[in-house]
Amino acid sequence: MIAFEHVNKQYSADAMALRDISLSVAKGELVFLAGPSGAGKSTLLKMIAAMERPSSGKVIVNGQDIGKIKPAGVPFLRRNLGLIFQQQRLLTDRSILANVMLPLLVTGAPKAQAEQRARAALDKVGLLERAPALPLALSGGEQQRVAIARAIVNRPQIILADEPTANLDRASADKVLDALKAFHSVGVTCLISTHDEQIIESAARVIHLQQGRITGTESP
Ligand code: ADP
Ligand code: ADP
Repeated sequence: MIAFEHVNKQYSADAMALRDISLSVAKGELVFLAGPSGAGKSTLLKMIAAMERPSSGKVIVNGQDIGKIKPAGVPFLRRNLGLIFQQQRLLTDRSILANVMLPLLVTGAPKAQAEQRARAALDKVGLLERAPALPLALSGGEQQRVAIARAIVNRPQIILADEPTANLDRASADKVLDALKAFHSVGVTCLISTHDEQIIESAARVIHLQQGRITGTESP
């Protein structure tokens, strides 16, 4: 479903973010990308969503070559992706429910259907009763679970979560991971990056990154 073949990413002359990355992720897999800040985890995830392109090598997602994808093909690619990135904050001026409905409304879903599906998604992350609340009334961990609901409301085949437990205490981090694992358990392919090795699920594959290189892989 996802394949990297000898991928390099160079942002500038002295900034090599990824070096000779080759990996593949099968449909339905749960994979953690582990490594310290600056290792290249975000860059790797962004390439899958065509937010960055490889400087050399190939990235294939669902049979599509990301290096060759045309601008018009990007929304089509992303329809199959649930993105949980730090930059994509919740809109603070509208309710949790409205935030989760948004991805459906922008693709033209009728409002009643969008609301029903948004409520179902909030229910899956355990936050249905907070639907009318504004995002800032929620804890950091709850906000992150809303971001997960928003990411999966379109029923993507792949979830990409970049440091979803950063800045959360252990109990909140566990709930965020449980929400992600629940989608994995119904067949969604999940890639989760983290600098905190303690959160890594023992049943998952782990790819270790350091200074842009894969330094090791552990398979269950
Ligand atoms: P991680 O997610 O593991 O913290 P990143 O992928 O964010 O790592 O960064 C990998 C390297 O690429 C770092 O050295 C970072 O400074 C650099 N980098 C990331 N994004 C950019 C950018 N847009 N321009 C220049 N350098 C970047
Ligand atoms: P409904 O058809 O009423 O929306 P479902 O039980 O089919 O009810 O789905 C409920 C919610 O579960 C959806 O809104 C969606 O968020 C989530 N969901 C279902 N299937 C998937 C999937 N394959 N990937 C991600 N999320 C899914």
